[in-house]
Amino acid sequence: MQNQLFINGVWVAPASGQMFDVVDPSDRKVFHQVAAGGAADVDAAVRAARAAFDQGPWPRMSGAARAAILRRMGDEITARTDELARIEVRDNGKPLPEAIWDIEDTAGCFHFYADLAERFDNNSVQEIALSMDEFTSKAVKEPVGVAGAIIPWNFPMLMAAWKVAPALAAGCTMVLKPSELTPLTALELGVIAQKAGLPDGVLNIVTGFGPDAGQPLTEHPGVNKLAFTGSVPTGSRIMATAAQDIKTISLELGGKSPMVVFEDADIAEAVEWILFGIFWNQGEVCSATSRVLIHEDIYPALMERLVEEARKIKIGHGLNEGVLLGPLVSQSQYEKVLSAIEMGKSEATLVTGGGVPEGLEHGCYVEPTIFADVPTDTWIWNEEIFGPVVCIRKFAAEEEAIDLANDTRFGLGAAVLSNDLDRAERVARAFRAGIVWINCSQPTFTEAPWGGYKQSGIGRELGEWGFNNYLETKQITTYDRSKPWGWYIKD
Ligand code: NAD
Repeated sequence: MQNQLFINGVWVAPASGQMFDVVDPSDRKVFHQVAAGGAADVDAAVRAARAAFDQGPWPRMSGAARAAILRRMGDEITARTDELARIEVRDNGKPLPEAIWDIEDTAGCFHFYADLAERFDNNSVQEIALSMDEFTSKAVKEPVGVAGAIIPWNFPMLMAAWKVAPALAAGCTMVLKPSELTPLTALELGVIAQKAGLPDGVLNIVTGFGPDAGQPLTEHPGVNKLAFTGSVPTGSRIMATAAQDIKTISLELGGKSPMVVFEDADIAEAVEWILFGIFWNQGEVCSATSRVLIHEDIYPALMERLVEEARKIKIGHGLNEGVLLGPLVSQSQYEKVLSAIEMGKSEATLVTGGGVPEGLEHGCYVEPTIFADVPTDTWIWNEEIFGPVVCIRKFAAEEEAIDLANDTRFGLGAAVLSNDLDRAERVARAFRAGIVWINCSQPTFTEAPWGGYKQSGIGRELGEWGFNNYLETKQITTYDRSKPWGWYIKD
């Protein structure tokens, strides 16, 4: 496993010489050390990316040539799926089957954007019909320049891919700053890029802490665009910093995503989607189904089944067979979630979970936790917990459910379960959220737009939307000199 910084195609030690610990949350033991990058390293990385953009081949290559390299990266990720997934289990804690999904999606993301890069050759120029026939005009799409990407720890390699693959496909060069909690698979992207023949300086990776490495990246005048996924407070700070020199930004922030379950929903299916919605990836998911509104007619029956099934969820080390819930990512996240649960106990009815599973005290494990009859003016109903904790209450009428679902400062995901597809569609349209699921919750597709309304973010990742994040649009207008121009050039 790598532990140095990847700058200009070379693995280098940080200017400070400092390293930081990488901790396995399943036993709280240090198992690796990684370079603690700082402002000087970020500066070197941005300069390398700048030179690769301003003078290097990457933005000037055809999309097809870029696609060939991106495909090789995707193929190499696929070839290393099991190894990379196991690194993810150790670094993040998630169960192996979910880590394998992550790596498969990561490879898929590179392949998807390779195809878009290829199509870009034909789509990058659009002729524009003008109202004056003295002129012809076209819109040309070009890479935005040097991108700075700052990512969180919940899907370490996949979050990197969501930014690296479209940015490189568009012809940008970049500096990636992974989370200090999960730096390992992002560093492997450097190895993969080298092997695939990505030109030096196109992708640079600087590990380190937010204030030491992330902040200098957001402040650096050599960066044209910032792409961030993480918490609302950090996103807000990045936006304020980016405003100083008008960098383009896209932000993917937190959520408190609702699910509305109508009386005609299938109870067994509802149980499955609620459990998956809140407990997959330990609930450390920005779009997690963390607020559930259940129609009063099925509330008692559904709650009974839900609690029964939640208690069966196998908790343990991510490499153990049948485990659905691994440890939380870190000691600080573990403490944060446990204190949120304590807060919840004073605000609502705890119906299951709420503690540390017996025999797993050596790791950052927290039980799947369900709060019922949660009042809407409580802390747990309104704040993102980012752990395996769901808040549930009942409703009586469709409009009430929509109002409750939308009564939040977030707007990332929302779900509706109903046998009546007209009603489901009506409710889906009424949600103020960027990603809406009907009769399911959480499935995510590289082809479809991902992002939030309100404080859940700005812009969309994935699909063509994610590609456009990394493009500028230029107008090129040509004057037909054979036609007279009335104002100054008279003869
Ligand atoms: P965080 O905001 O603490 O950290 C995210 C990244 O920002 C890390 O790499 C961190 O080092 C860096 N950072 C911290 N301070 C910085 C600063 N001052 N300047 C620049 N960079 C800085 O978030 P986290 O705890 O890593 O992740 C959890 C949060 O991410 C949750 O709130 C979750 O909702 C959100 N999230 C959102 C999505 C989405 O798609 N919308 C996806 C995953 C996670």
